[in-house]
Amino acid sequence: MSDTNHGVLSVVGIGPGNDEHITPAALQAIKEAELVVGYSTYIKLVKHLIEGKEIVRTGMTEEIGRASAAVEQARSGRKVVLVSSGDAGVYGMCGLVFQVLGQIGWKRGDSPELRIIPGITAINGCASLVGAPLGHDFCAISLSDLLTPWPAIRKKIEAAASADFVIGLYNPASGRRQRQIVEAQEIIRKYRPGNTPVSLIKSAYRRKEHIVKSDLDHFLDYEIGMLTTVLVGSTQTYYFEDYMVTPRGYNNKYLMDGTVLDGQTPGRSLVLDESGRPIAEKMERSGEA
Ligand code: SAH
Repeated sequence: MSDTNHGVLSVVGIGPGNDEHITPAALQAIKEAELVVGYSTYIKLVKHLIEGKEIVRTGMTEEIGRASAAVEQARSGRKVVLVSSGDAGVYGMCGLVFQVLGQIGWKRGDSPELRIIPGITAINGCASLVGAPLGHDFCAISLSDLLTPWPAIRKKIEAAASADFVIGLYNPASGRRQRQIVEAQEIIRKYRPGNTPVSLIKSAYRRKEHIVKSDLDHFLDYEIGMLTTVLVGSTQTYYFEDYMVTPRGYNNKYLMDGTVLDGQTPGRSLVLDESGRPIAEKMERSGEA
């Protein structure tokens, strides 16, 4: 294929929804594009950035069509941007692009050149609005059973809950789909106390942003929909001044005077001494002597 026919497909995550949280790399890719493809809601979010460009908007359920259109247009030599909310690789369009590329027998070096631009995914954007809920091990689970059978999702909730992960629930409910979040609560309750912090973040960084701070026993009293991310704390998560906080480890390893609790290993200092040797190494040696 000649160079003039070599197109570029940039798969771009535009972050949660406002301009401040789109990365410069994503903006650059959008600026350079001739054609912008995306779900109409996301196109609306970046409308002011794409004036004068050709746009292909599609509905929510036309994801395969959207991915194929983007690949085909870029393959024929155009600069195409496929926009996704948050990060395009997190429950987004990026996986579908690879499926389409697989179907057409695309190889690295072929047109289109593929560029994947990361974005702030919902779990990160939402966490920043409530404090530091992801301070220790966490996971994301989508409650949508459109593409994944419910028993498989249930198993993941059970595993995450029993292993004490902080859990970010994507796609928690929709107009028709309300049962899953109720079952998720039942499962998590088996492992965590009813006063475990749970926050609901709707439309983070968008005009209709709405935040509810609740707990495991009560969060279902509030509206949960397609635009909500549910952050469920671990057994270590607490509210401090209305911020949701998950400390880094268990049992407050570090006391404020710098000493360490029984049975715990002190952290290694990364501070170097005059000879450039880590202080921690120096301490170990003096311990041996
Ligand atoms: N690719 C997206 C996720 C798509 S799945 C990302 O990386 O963020 C759609 C789900 O993401 C929604 O049901 C909701 O749970 C979550 N979500 C996306 N944007 C959000 C926002 N601005 N505020 C809160 N939740 C959001």
